[in-house]
Amino acid sequence: MTGQLTCLACGSADSAGLFNAKDHMVSKSEYLIRRCNACGMGWTANPPAEPESGAYYVSEDYISHTDRKQSLPDKLYHLARSFMLRRKQRMVTLATGKNNGNLVDIGSGTGYFAAFMKKKGWQVTAIEISETARKYSENQFGLKAISPEEINHLPSGSADCITFWHVLEHLYDPAEWFNNVARVLKDDGKCILALPNFSSSDALWFGKWWAALDVPRHLWHFTPEALRLFAGRNGFTCERIASLPLDLFYISILSYRNKGIPMPLLRGVMTGMFLGIRSGFRKQRSSSLVYILSKNKLT
Ligand SMILES: [Zn+2]
Repeated sequence: MTGQLTCLACGSADSAGLFNAKDHMVSKSEYLIRRCNACGMGWTANPPAEPESGAYYVSEDYISHTDRKQSLPDKLYHLARSFMLRRKQRMVTLATGKNNGNLVDIGSGTGYFAAFMKKKGWQVTAIEISETARKYSENQFGLKAISPEEINHLPSGSADCITFWHVLEHLYDPAEWFNNVARVLKDDGKCILALPNFSSSDALWFGKWWAALDVPRHLWHFTPEALRLFAGRNGFTCERIASLPLDLFYISILSYRNKGIPMPLLRGVMTGMFLGIRSGFRKQRSSSLVYILSKNKLT
């Protein structure tokens, strides 16, 4: 996908460079963000080749693969996590209409969500690329965590729900993953995706400083419209959209911290309030969105 010029979401070849964004976490390098002129989908135009991409996750800062509680933003993140676990569980129940069943969590990280759902009575398979994170989730929670290639061993039509919590934007071939999802999911199963919203009020406010760009780890910068188009082209229909309200504050704080602005916590919270109120907390402008997808019926 290096130098990709056609849009993943709509297939249009009409795109333009938008700005350069910096990797604040690992390499400190800059990466061009391109945007589709037809649908608004964004992508990181010159990311590392896939075999080298693992090196960009080697950082103390990469919070979803670590479990430290040092800086104030990290502490808030951990506090927010328990709130979010319950919210995610409710989303799964609401989407599937079930209180238990087979769940596959893709990009499970250290396994907190998978473990929470297992405790709530779900049969959970965790899929995670990092061996360290897989070992952690096995040792800490007794989870069954498998590598991404092993999804091929999961039986067809076996899952009630497949979740990607802030994961699809990291994957080099999202369409191939949607093929896998279509195969493993039951016909009435649901796929739940959480993604940063490239057309959110905070994305527009912070521009190239928007922390959820997270280049070059984030390869794709979806808008609600782009996700609908992408899902449609890959056999799925978007049934429902929900917002993740806390992400606005977390991303605003991180954006100010990356920018080197004093008192990022205070400013982040204030800006979050301002942006939230200004957009009337409308879903379309929400910092992160959760999409509930169902398989297209074969006609
Ligand atoms: Zn497009």
